[in-house]
Amino acid sequence: MSASLGLYRLQQVDRQIDRAQARLEAIRKTLENDTELKAALTRMETAQANHHRALHELKFTETEAETQKIKVEQTEASLYGGGVKNPKELQDLQKDVESLKKHLATLEERELEAMIGTDSAADELQTAKTDLDGIQSRLGNEHKSLIEERSALARQLENLTEEREAALSPISVDQLRIYEDLRRQKRGVAVAEVEDDACAACGTTINAAVQQSARSQKSLIHCPSCGRILFAN
Ligand SMILES: [Zn+2]
Repeated sequence: MSASLGLYRLQQVDRQIDRAQARLEAIRKTLENDTELKAALTRMETAQANHHRALHELKFTETEAETQKIKVEQTEASLYGGGVKNPKELQDLQKDVESLKKHLATLEERELEAMIGTDSAADELQTAKTDLDGIQSRLGNEHKSLIEERSALARQLENLTEEREAALSPISVDQLRIYEDLRRQKRGVAVAEVEDDACAACGTTINAAVQQSARSQKSLIHCPSCGRILFAN
């Protein structure tokens, strides 16, 4: 077996480990990133508070208008009841009725505004609820499949770790150090296959003599251009 074959096999396992770990990291971020859900919850809480306030306001304006109506009725009863005969007193009562009715109109206007406010707050609350339900159900499904994928990746990583142990056995400590340094420097690819007389990583032509050396059992041969370890079949 050539010295580079062992490293080539190790790299195949390491590349799979890299991919599984990158995917796990992406899944972790997705599961933790619940910005959308938080925003929908905040909208829902705001809508609930607004609706509550609107209902309170409506009740308050209803009571005020009702109280004012009773005052008008009572004053009118005095005015038309026949108990008061004095013209000056009657005139005063008439003025009171007019002024009480004027204020009643204002209060009824407020009551109407409060009703409209309550309706629109109820609509907003309903929209916020529907949105939140939609997001929760969609995220629930997405998260469920991501959690399943995460479990599968964890099992895959366990198997790959065992494969890596096996792939390490024919490799010397020195070779491993060279390999790991190159992996760090060359974006995860330390060993390049020779394909069609060229380095598969950088495309540089590799002559027959160098290819022959790359099959050597003892030493590692590097690509003259990118510096990666060459592996030739
Ligand atoms: Zn190269």
